[in-house]
Amino acid sequence: PIFKEPPKIKRLEESVVNRIAAGEVIQRPVSAVKELVENSLDADSTSISVVVKDGGLKLIQVSDDGHGIRYEDLPILCERHTTSKLCHFEDLQSIQSMGFRGEALASMTYVGHVTVTTIINGQLHGYRATYRDGVMEHEPKACAAVKGTQIMVENLFYNMIARRKTLQNSADDYPKIVDLLSRFAIHHINVSFSCRKHGAARADVHSVATSSRLDAIRSVYGVSVARNLMKIEASDNELSGSLFKLEGFISNSNYIAKKITMVLFINNRLVDCSALKRAIEIVYSATLPKASKPFIYMSILLPTEHVDVNVHPTKREVSLLNQEIIIEKIQSAVESRLRNSNESRTFQEQK
Ligand code: ADP
Ligand code: MG
Repeated sequence: PIFKEPPKIKRLEESVVNRIAAGEVIQRPVSAVKELVENSLDADSTSISVVVKDGGLKLIQVSDDGHGIRYEDLPILCERHTTSKLCHFEDLQSIQSMGFRGEALASMTYVGHVTVTTIINGQLHGYRATYRDGVMEHEPKACAAVKGTQIMVENLFYNMIARRKTLQNSADDYPKIVDLLSRFAIHHINVSFSCRKHGAARADVHSVATSSRLDAIRSVYGVSVARNLMKIEASDNELSGSLFKLEGFISNSNYIAKKITMVLFINNRLVDCSALKRAIEIVYSATLPKASKPFIYMSILLPTEHVDVNVHPTKREVSLLNQEIIIEKIQSAVESRLRNSNESRTFQEQK
C-alpha cells in the first residue's frame, strides 16, 4: 500500500468560522426577517414594519417602536453571543423572549451590511451605527429618529457567491416574507404589522392592533377564510398542574383549499411541528374528506420546562416532552369539534 501522510489539522481563522456559522443562522432572506421581527417583538413594540427590496437580497429593513438600544451597548451589539435576554444556561428553561443566543445580528453582519438606528425614551436624538463582521465600523452618529429601532440589512450574502446565485435563480423570498408576517400578525394581535416591497405604495400585509383574533385573521387572510373558521379550545391538567392549553381557529367543511395552512405557536414561538400537522390532516381526511386541506391556527401553551427551544439555531423546530400524548389530545379535540359542527349542520339541513 502507498504510504500517505495524514493531512495536517489547522485551526480555522475566526472570520471563516463566523461566516460559516452565520450562514446556518441566516439561511435565506426570510430567516433574517424572522430574527429581526422577533427582536422587535422582544423589545415590546406595538408597531412593526418591514420593507424588502429584491426579495431581501438588496435590502431588508425592519422598523419598530420598541424600547430601543442604549448608546453604550452599540459597540458590542453585533458581536457574537452578546444578548440582553439570557444570563445563565438554566434560564433557558424559563425563557420567554424569542431570542437568547445573541447570534442573529452578529450573523447578519458576517453575511451582509447592517445599519442600526435607535432612540430610547427621553432622548432628544437617536444614534446610527454600521457594522461589518461583528464590528461597529465607526462611533455612532447622532441623528434624528422616531421612537424605537430600525435595522437595515443590505446586500445579504454578498460574500457567499454560491448562496447568492442559488437564491437569485430560485423564486425570490418575498412571498415567504409575506407569509411569515401574516403568521405573526394573527398571533400577536396587539401589535400592528406591515410588510411592503421597497417603493410600493401598497402594503401586502397590513394589520392593525385589535382584541379580536378573528378580526385579525379576516384582515390578513381575507373574509373567505375567516367566515369558515370555528373556535377550538382544549386543555389538560391530568399531569401535575396544567399539561397544556390549546386555543385556536380551525376551518369547517365549507373551507376548500389546495393545501393546508398551519399556523402554529408554541409558547408564543412560531414553530413547525410536522407530526402535529400530519395528525390534523389525518383527522380532516377522515371526518371532512372534501375539506381535507384545512386552515389551522393554533396557540399552544406548555410548561416552559417541557419545551426544548435549543434544538436548532433557527429555533424553528422545538421538541416537546410528551409529544405523542399532546398530539393525541389535540387530534381528539379537533375531531370532536369537526363532528359537532357536522352534526349541527346536518341537523339544520334536516329542519
Ligand atoms: P438575541 O435576540 O438572541 O438576544 P440578537 O443578535 O438578535 O440576539 O440581538 C442582540 C441584542 O440586541 C438583543 O439581546 C437586544 O438587546 C438588542 N436588540 C436587537 N434588536 C433590537 C430591537 N429591535 N430593539 C431593541 N433591542 C434590540
Ligand atoms: Mg434575536
